[in-house]
Amino acid sequence: MRLDKLLSHSGFGSRKEVKQLLKKSQVTVNGQQVKDGKINVSEVADQIAVGDQLVSYQAYFYYLLHKPKGVISATEDVSHRTVLDLLAKDDYRRDLFPVGRLDKETTGLLLITNDGDFSHNLLSPKKHVSKRYAATINGVVTAEDCQRFADGVMISGNEACQPAQLEIISVNLEKQTSQIKVTITEGKYHQVKRMFEAVGKQVTELHRETMGALSLDPLLTPGQYRELTTEEQTLLG
Ligand code: URA
Repeated sequence: MRLDKLLSHSGFGSRKEVKQLLKKSQVTVNGQQVKDGKINVSEVADQIAVGDQLVSYQAYFYYLLHKPKGVISATEDVSHRTVLDLLAKDDYRRDLFPVGRLDKETTGLLLITNDGDFSHNLLSPKKHVSKRYAATINGVVTAEDCQRFADGVMISGNEACQPAQLEIISVNLEKQTSQIKVTITEGKYHQVKRMFEAVGKQVTELHRETMGALSLDPLLTPGQYRELTTEEQTLLG
């Protein structure tokens, strides 16, 4: 990789700032001063330092975010705050993106990474990674609805969903509302909302609790995030 790219990716500023660092003779590769950012270096074999600080290069980043309401799952948007706007300045990188989407008003577990293969493995329809949501439903959810979800609901008239597990947590007959958990293995557009529409009910609150073997960290409040541990990365890999 080019030296200036590696330094920029390792938190030493923009390419322009890195150029200045190099110009001021602050960068060494294997003990030799280097001024040319265009040279190729090995992030594994070469020892790169800025002043007396050794550069440790990290190629991939994995964050577990508790997505709050009101932000969109995108990398940039002209009129809305995005999930990337929630990252601290030091953690923000231009190549980060959310792994899949949660609707603007949906809360809960959202992964953010710059690792395309990791994201693809979690989102590929072939992998059937399960996602569990807790939801408030306008309407009384019945055992018949659970059976329809288990059989595979037809949404928007002609789109068949894979079997999903629907569990009724509680029903409020007076208010005609229900608390449920639903586990799906796909990621169709507005899938949970459309599945409930198919059985004549509306989702009023939606929160993602799990993705594959990973659960949302209860210590994270809405808007907070942390790096995935290596164990968690392995769980998802
Ligand atoms: N299904 C939905 O309808 N919305 C989400 O945000 C996630 C799943």
